[in-house]
Amino acid sequence: MDLSAATIYSHHCPSLCELRPWLLAHGEPQAEPGAYQQVLVRLGQRHESSHLAELGDVTELSEGTFEERIDRTRELIELGEHTLYQPVFQSTIQIDGTDVRVVGIPDFLIRDGAGYRVRDCKLSLHADEEHHPEILRQLEIYGWLFEQTIGTPPIALEVVLGDSSIVEVPYDGGDRAIRALQEIKRTTLLDAPPYSPVGWSKCQACGFRKRCWTEAENRSDVALVYGVDQGLVRALRRDGAATPEQLLDRFDETTLAAFTRPWGSRSQRVGRKAGRILEQARATASNSMTVLFPPALPVADHYVMFDLEGVPPQLDEFDKVYLWGTQVFGANSGEYQAAVAAFGPDGDRRGWLDFLEQSGAIFEAYGDIPFIHWHHYETSKIRTYIERYGDVSGLAQRVLRNCVDLLPVTRDAVVLPDPSYSLKVVERRADYRRTLDEYGGDWSIARYIEAVETDDESDREEIMQEILDYNREDLEATWAVMGWLRSLA
Ligand code: SF4
Repeated sequence: MDLSAATIYSHHCPSLCELRPWLLAHGEPQAEPGAYQQVLVRLGQRHESSHLAELGDVTELSEGTFEERIDRTRELIELGEHTLYQPVFQSTIQIDGTDVRVVGIPDFLIRDGAGYRVRDCKLSLHADEEHHPEILRQLEIYGWLFEQTIGTPPIALEVVLGDSSIVEVPYDGGDRAIRALQEIKRTTLLDAPPYSPVGWSKCQACGFRKRCWTEAENRSDVALVYGVDQGLVRALRRDGAATPEQLLDRFDETTLAAFTRPWGSRSQRVGRKAGRILEQARATASNSMTVLFPPALPVADHYVMFDLEGVPPQLDEFDKVYLWGTQVFGANSGEYQAAVAAFGPDGDRRGWLDFLEQSGAIFEAYGDIPFIHWHHYETSKIRTYIERYGDVSGLAQRVLRNCVDLLPVTRDAVVLPDPSYSLKVVERRADYRRTLDEYGGDWSIARYIEAVETDDESDREEIMQEILDYNREDLEATWAVMGWLRSLA
């Protein structure tokens, strides 16, 4: 197995996991990339092409065998060629007495005086140790390969971010990146896979999700207990509590509260979360839920179910909500309605104004009705849009005042034997069944971007209808959960 920037990425993306490189190296089957991952790849290629076009005259090195490209890269650098696109480098490092090849294909080499800048394009909006350390390691590998090949370090390592700004990555001679490659390589050489706890968000977009979750369920992993974070899982396992049952045998609320686990670069006591973690462990071990107290639900004749679909900023020119979905449920239910951001320059503002108009009509018909949503995305986006476009009529503030987040209401009142309190998990407790085969926030974003990009009007309408159906089912699911919570009360 050659080592490359892809080796580092396999460790970091879509989430940090030391098991993933081992599974890849050992040929474990994984799921095909989902629609969202495919969109990211396509947008990444487009970002790179648009920077390529800005650079003007470039010499492209994407044709030929790997060896031919390596030779040609060195020749052209020696000739002082101005800009190279997709040059190829290779060198070797020693790992436990064995030579291992390291290869790298930066996007661009740009001549600057007597040297070269190494430049790569990324969709991300940040490239630093906190947000995307893998980007830094990738550029460091390129810098190290350049120096091994040419004999001098590059003039600079640069990243063209998703917003087209260029940031410089400090070059340390490749030390950190080479150490990271050696560490990953050693892990992949292990006979048995290393342990890495499953996590709801961590595993969501990973191709090995099914494999790892099935194994975690089969061994009754303590990582399945809601509220037990990754550091705590590792500390509990070291302490002999690898399952929910062992956690309950080994700890009571006092001893668990005093137990310390890694927390960033330090360690921290479990503290006040201990009691709830033990409740969750009890629910998981017995596969039964507990109602702690009646859910604190608002009392009204009617409720608006409220759900937004939005695009994160690195996929659009800014953080954009493309669909504001609402539906009134209760004694006199209303129709599903959606304010959709139209395609085009003023679409975002129009979508917002349509949403306010629809909200105004709801207040007109039902008075101060609760707007029920799941998690805080809805309220945080309303605040973003008030800042962006103002709220002359005061309707947005009125919606905010009437918002009720059903997630904390559910979590505070009910202990579920599930590893997550996402709507898609909790709705199953309420016996809600979706009709769509494919759905989810990432799926919706991917479909929306397809709708934006297509020139075919009928395709666009069909895609938008799918997104609307998904959003409508989210509202129905929220209402079903609300009914279920009332039945518990
Ligand atoms: S599914 Fe989770 S635990 Fe398994 S490799 Fe992926 S991120 Fe790691």
